Amino acid sequence: MLSELLLKRRAEILHALCSGGSVEHLERVIDMLLAQGELGWEDCQNVLVPGRALYSNARQLLDLVYTKGADSCELFFNAVKQVLPEALGDTFFLSGCHSTLDYKEKPQRTSTEELLTQRPDLVLKLQGCIDGALRVLVESGHFSPTDCDGIQLPIYTPSQQARRLLDHVRSKGESASLVVLQYVQQSLESESSLEQTNPSLTKEFVKYQKKLRSSVSAQSRFLSTYGGTSHMPLDDIYTEVQMELPNNSADNYKSMGFEEIIGPVGSVNDDADTVLASGEAGSGKSTWLQRLHLLWSQGKALQDFLLLFPFSCRRLNSEQRDLSVQELLFQHCCWPDRGQEEIFQFILDHPHLVLFTFDGLDELKQSFADEHRICCPSQRAPVDVLLFNLIQGSLMKGVRKVVTSRPEAVGPALKKHLHKEIHLKGFSLSGIDCFVRKHHSDPNEAAKVLESLQANTALLGLCHSPVLCWIVSQCHKELLGCGEGSLQTITDVYLMILQHFFQHHSTVKSAMGVNWLQENLGTVLHLGQLAFEGISNSSYIFSVTDMETCGVTESDICMGFLIQSKDMSLANSKCCEFLHITLQCFLAALFAILSRNTGCSAISKLFELQEMKKKRLRGTCFGACLNSTNIPNIVKEHSTMAETPNLQITATFVSGLLSQRYQKLWIQCSSSVLVEKKTKQAEKCLSKGMQQHFRSIPQPVQGEKKSMHAMPEFVWLIKCIYEMQNSRLAKDAMSKLEAEHLKLTYCNIGPVECTALAYVLQHLKNPVGIQLDNNSVGDVGVEQLLPCMHICNSLYLRNNNITDEGIHKLIDKVIHLQNFQKIALFNNRLTDACTKHFSYLLKTRQNFLSLRLGNNNITAEGAKQLAEGLKFNRSLQYLGLWGNKIGNEGAEALANALENSESIVWLSLVGNGVGSAGACAMSNIIRNSTSLEELWLTENCITRTGVESLTQALKHNHHVKSVWLKNNDLTSAEIEEMQQTDSRLVF
Ligand code: ADP
Repeated sequence: MLSELLLKRRAEILHALCSGGSVEHLERVIDMLLAQGELGWEDCQNVLVPGRALYSNARQLLDLVYTKGADSCELFFNAVKQVLPEALGDTFFLSGCHSTLDYKEKPQRTSTEELLTQRPDLVLKLQGCIDGALRVLVESGHFSPTDCDGIQLPIYTPSQQARRLLDHVRSKGESASLVVLQYVQQSLESESSLEQTNPSLTKEFVKYQKKLRSSVSAQSRFLSTYGGTSHMPLDDIYTEVQMELPNNSADNYKSMGFEEIIGPVGSVNDDADTVLASGEAGSGKSTWLQRLHLLWSQGKALQDFLLLFPFSCRRLNSEQRDLSVQELLFQHCCWPDRGQEEIFQFILDHPHLVLFTFDGLDELKQSFADEHRICCPSQRAPVDVLLFNLIQGSLMKGVRKVVTSRPEAVGPALKKHLHKEIHLKGFSLSGIDCFVRKHHSDPNEAAKVLESLQANTALLGLCHSPVLCWIVSQCHKELLGCGEGSLQTITDVYLMILQHFFQHHSTVKSAMGVNWLQENLGTVLHLGQLAFEGISNSSYIFSVTDMETCGVTESDICMGFLIQSKDMSLANSKCCEFLHITLQCFLAALFAILSRNTGCSAISKLFELQEMKKKRLRGTCFGACLNSTNIPNIVKEHSTMAETPNLQITATFVSGLLSQRYQKLWIQCSSSVLVEKKTKQAEKCLSKGMQQHFRSIPQPVQGEKKSMHAMPEFVWLIKCIYEMQNSRLAKDAMSKLEAEHLKLTYCNIGPVECTALAYVLQHLKNPVGIQLDNNSVGDVGVEQLLPCMHICNSLYLRNNNITDEGIHKLIDKVIHLQNFQKIALFNNRLTDACTKHFSYLLKTRQNFLSLRLGNNNITAEGAKQLAEGLKFNRSLQYLGLWGNKIGNEGAEALANALENSESIVWLSLVGNGVGSAGACAMSNIIRNSTSLEELWLTENCITRTGVESLTQALKHNHHVKSVWLKNNDLTSAEIEEMQQTDSRLVF
């Protein structure tokens, strides 16, 4: 009778077990049947076949139970009732089934048997403490770290990890089983003592916290870029990245702990709860956030937060339903097995104990908007609306949120809701060193890679970007095989990784032939189309259907460019994403070039994106180009924030791939006529783009130089020209630039951009001032700029993370260049060691005009060095040392050197710890110099004696216009009195 019932309700049971898409229900039923001895291990293997559809597995179980007979069916029904009490309705169980699970009576002799009979319970208990259980198993010598890695693969849910652990323990025998049973017992005891010490944390809450921790840990242990080839534990490879806190120059570039980042330092809005970490593609945002997750889950950071909910905006895109906050948290992060309401109430009551993280806000299909406000946590809304309300604080006020994004997606509407913003700036030079050493277990190999990077600074510059550093390390064999300096552009590096992946999977283990691309053309075109359509449609996660549409085969997937999507809720649906967004852009660019179906219009639409945007055709531009190419147009109405940057990266790769250097590669793979046409088209677009930019330069204000303030796309165009390695194009473009001053402040210029800038700017006809303040040029960037220094008359590099090393290289070059007359280096990392180079410059160059070294770390020793040079210099007009530490001794040395100067016009020693002795020395300059007009001595410790000396000196001098003395050691009475003596003294 029960067997008949099983047949009759088959469809209903299958639906109940499988409709959620998760294998969890089926596995729990199987756990129970295993525990009761109704199923054996072999049965289990026949039912749960990896890779087979969930429904097929469930059918297999039903068939098996049916053939085993009525007793089996009864136990099966009981198990289903336990797992899904509501699913099939009460009537279903009126047939005499027992409502509780009876384990078959068996004397329990061994721990291994106990492990089996308690399996359902153990799975539940273990999922909150996998880490700990593995630790004791390793400590007791039963498990190796490789065993642990196999169990904690991120593709498994916490309960699956628990099952794998139990299965593995079973294979290790009796004493391993005993260790696990004892561990679970102990952790239950400590759990109950935790509850006693902190009564507000209920049992259900503590269980949930453990489950969440374990799920966050599983998701964050491995780095996804290694997914195609191996699983690299984050703990082993993580390398600190540089960070910048805007408005807090003192802390710039030092790496900050997570506590510090989330805490009050650098806050711009104490009422706001959201901390934003921004950075370019590949600068390490996701990895940094992953590190935060891992350290929290390991109990090593941010332990004030009892719960951490990690979200990926990329994955939230696929949520079509309206959700409440509770549903968002529990369905997208971690499901509480019991006590949902109670746990959510705890979150509402203790927002300061909870942290949300959102990775990749730029990848959300909708742009941040502050229009639709909701504040009730139970109200359902589309996911983007929920997210924006969480970020700006109308929902769940007090919960801290950490968001990562590319800078383009951060508009003013979002900025006003930020607690603070930090910029991720990639690896420092020592970071590159450290990463390469971590990546290569063989120290000799690491040393060779580092050596070849030192020999090619253009490549070293690229390695500041973590994703490129990873590629270069990954392809070290190819790198070492290349001649010195042969890898120059980002396109070179990505082509290298393409070749590397093919090589890795080549069945013929010998070196690939020259036709490596042709041999793998099918894969390139399939993946290329998938990437291309994804970029045009802002899609980064691809379903099996998407892949089939583009002809992507199993063997294409095996190449390693695609990895399985990490989304737990999609664990069984085999969705894929590219290893990194930049790789998707690169493959899209290859497709644009190689596909015979994409014409020249696709190329021009890609480059004219900015133009189209200006004409308010956002969102349809790339769609139009797809339309013209027989590829289905799948572009959505509204474009995403990510669209422009991704298309720009794609266009940069297109430029690189269309370089003359690669034309040979395309001959066998596409129509050479078509590729040539595309090349001409790209050149035309770049040249047009530059001209349009130059046309926008305003006429100069009277008395000022004609100045061009570069827009972000100027840097992008320059990078495209560099990738193309087309000096004719660079020359043409520069012959049309008429500005005398190029302002490129806050343009996100790092070493890579410096290489491209120098490549193009060196063709300028007349010398210009180059203003690069507030970027991340660094020492490597300075070196990259050297080729264009001959057309530079003034170089502004304020706030650029430059050290004495960079200055050394710069001065070695400019010492011979007569055009070079001014330099500003405010707020870098300079010390006394750089002053000997400046001293040499001053001695050698008698037309050098301005040296500004404010806010560095120069002491009296440095000032003495500078004075050595100044003694022999007849040209310097401006000397700025604001915010150093030269003290009286330094001031005296400088005064001694400048005493009879006929050139110095402006001298600043503001904030240098100068006292009256220094001021008295300065009086000598006032007394004897024929040129000095302004002397800045604000914020020092000058007393009455010093000021009197200055006053005396002023009596003999009519050139000096002002002496600034604010904030010194003077009483208000003294100030009042001395102000009378000379109106040029400013207090
Ligand atoms: P973003 O999110 O800014 O695009 P990712 O975090 O995805 O950048 O970084 C790209 C790749 O660079 C990573 O997959 C990893 O290989 C490497 N990487 C990034 N940051 C680090 C880091 N701090 N330590 C080690 N490798 C890193």
